[in-house]
Amino acid sequence: MLKTKELQSDTHVYTCNVAMNSFVIDYKGNMLPCMKLRHKGINLLTHSFDYIWEQFSIYKKYEASEKNKCKKCDAVYFCDSCPAEMDAKYGDMEVVDCTKCKVAKIRKAFYCGEVDYDEALKQADL
Ligand code: SF4
Ligand code: SF4
Repeated sequence: MLKTKELQSDTHVYTCNVAMNSFVIDYKGNMLPCMKLRHKGINLLTHSFDYIWEQFSIYKKYEASEKNKCKKCDAVYFCDSCPAEMDAKYGDMEVVDCTKCKVAKIRKAFYCGEVDYDEALKQADL
């Protein structure tokens, strides 16, 4: 599957659209790269948009380490694991959350026609 290979060969931790085409502004005018990132924001009243946007580019530069299991995972295309969420929960952007893995593998099996809907639900144990 092409998308899987693309994601696996992307050497960055963040393979999402963070700092590429969206941002968040809170009620105080603080601009943040993403709702899930532990970033206190930079205020638009004191800094220009261009300056703030440039600061966010750091997230596209983090290189995945050798321990990054997601780069070798064949379920990566079906996974919604988020490095920012892992960082907030575990203090490590590259931690693998077993619950995310379980869901991604079931989703892959379903969309690849290996299990039907009922079996997917059974495996998910929801
Ligand atoms: S929620 Fe996570 S995966 Fe989605 S854009 Fe933000 S940092 Fe990327
Ligand atoms: S299923 Fe697990 S190892 Fe695979 S991409 Fe998702 S979090 Fe990473």
